[in-house]
Amino acid sequence: MQFKGQVLKMSTYNDKPIQYFLNLSGDLIRMNSLIGKTIKLKHIGYECVNCGSEEKIYRMGFCKKCFFESPYASDTIIRPELSRAHLGEEERDLEVEKEIQLVPHVVYLAYTGDVKVGVTREHQVPTRWIDQGATFALPIAKTDNRYEAGMIEVALKEHLPDKTNYKKMLEDDFEDEVDLADFRNKIEQYFPENFKNFYTMEGEMLRLDYPYEKPEKITAFTLDKNPEFEGVLNGIKGQYLSFEGGHVLNVRSHEGYLIELSF
Ligand SMILES: [Zn+2]
Repeated sequence: MQFKGQVLKMSTYNDKPIQYFLNLSGDLIRMNSLIGKTIKLKHIGYECVNCGSEEKIYRMGFCKKCFFESPYASDTIIRPELSRAHLGEEERDLEVEKEIQLVPHVVYLAYTGDVKVGVTREHQVPTRWIDQGATFALPIAKTDNRYEAGMIEVALKEHLPDKTNYKKMLEDDFEDEVDLADFRNKIEQYFPENFKNFYTMEGEMLRLDYPYEKPEKITAFTLDKNPEFEGVLNGIKGQYLSFEGGHVLNVRSHEGYLIELSF
């Protein structure tokens, strides 16, 4: 079988284990059924996720122009505390910014090899946690908009990491449950004074099961350095495909790449 198209991050469905679908220009390929099989990937070009340009992808699936101009690639995507839509202030496109920012958000703790803090739109739960490869996650605050969640995250990341270390995430083989409620109780004191009302103890910790076993040694590769790759798919965690020999590919960092997939 051969498929050809533009890569987007894998779609997921929270089951035991999580079900993964590779998105290639609208074709959804069920990746769980390819585990144990040899698959071949070939990089054949680019297609910006925003404008469709064939120029080299700059970052996050966008060509350089879109990365600096599209409201979907704004700084507030990475740094929610910079959000301004709640003040009616436009950054790139106020209507889009309102849609993204003026919806309920959650601040959460996630275990991805370390306990980290993060922010996401409420409707992105648990997708966001799966994309990060979290094995446990717990909402600790619910806010009305992105700015409030961002301000809480800024305060908490003085005490906890906010980035996922992909190697730790992929090397993780936790045996015991991580008690995120205990972490939540300890960091409550670091909530900024004006945002304490968003703190919640009502969230339930979610445990996520990936179709994945950790390899002996992990070596990441990209289709830039290795435009043709062939290997046996061993498992999937987060947005990483893990191949025999510990070669791992971050699908998300290849958004906007045109590829051929054969198996
Ligand atoms: Zn573009």
